[in-house]
Amino acid sequence: MDTLIIARHPLIQHKVTLLRDRRTPTKIFKELLDEIAMLMAYEATSDLPLELTEVDTPLERTSGVRVSGKKLVLVPILRAGLGMVEGVLRLVPGARVGHIGLYRDHDTLEPVDYYFRVPGDAAARDFFLLDPMLATGGSAVSAVASLKRAGATRIKFLCVVAAPFGLERLAKAHPDVQVYCAAVDRELNTHGYILPGLGDAGDRLFGTR
Ligand code: URA
Repeated sequence: MDTLIIARHPLIQHKVTLLRDRRTPTKIFKELLDEIAMLMAYEATSDLPLELTEVDTPLERTSGVRVSGKKLVLVPILRAGLGMVEGVLRLVPGARVGHIGLYRDHDTLEPVDYYFRVPGDAAARDFFLLDPMLATGGSAVSAVASLKRAGATRIKFLCVVAAPFGLERLAKAHPDVQVYCAAVDRELNTHGYILPGLGDAGDRLFGTR
């Protein structure tokens, strides 16, 4: 799949194993997700455009570079995506943060936006959509569509664990969106949970279960 980038860095893979462990307590789960998000952001920002600048060292003026263009926008999908925001912000402190809240309609089973807020000048910005789990792909497809309706054209999807079903669905619906993940797991169970996965990321992050 052309649009998929798997982050194989040893530290990411080590931390994902700890994240999967059922014995990992909420506090550590939160810290691990934060660290993984930061490490993944390092990879996902590797093509940010640069522009030339000048800088005065204590000794003389020299040439340098700085990230150019409008500020990156991080958009966590509520609620588990919130666990990835601070980690990415540690690398890109100037990034803006939007939010997307989705719920699944009981009758249609389709995701419905209940909250959507991103900066107004979306067409001029890069977006990182954040959700630790790409399972059925329903939320991801819908969140990308919402961003596109708002004018976004440059969108990356950052997750930790992905299922083949969700990856294929997202790639089919939005072939222009690059997906960064740390693991592609085997399959979904009948409830839409990823196997082997790590359980309910939101519950494990916020200690609600
Ligand atoms: N969301 C989760 O939190 N976990 C899964 O396995 C699938 C979706």
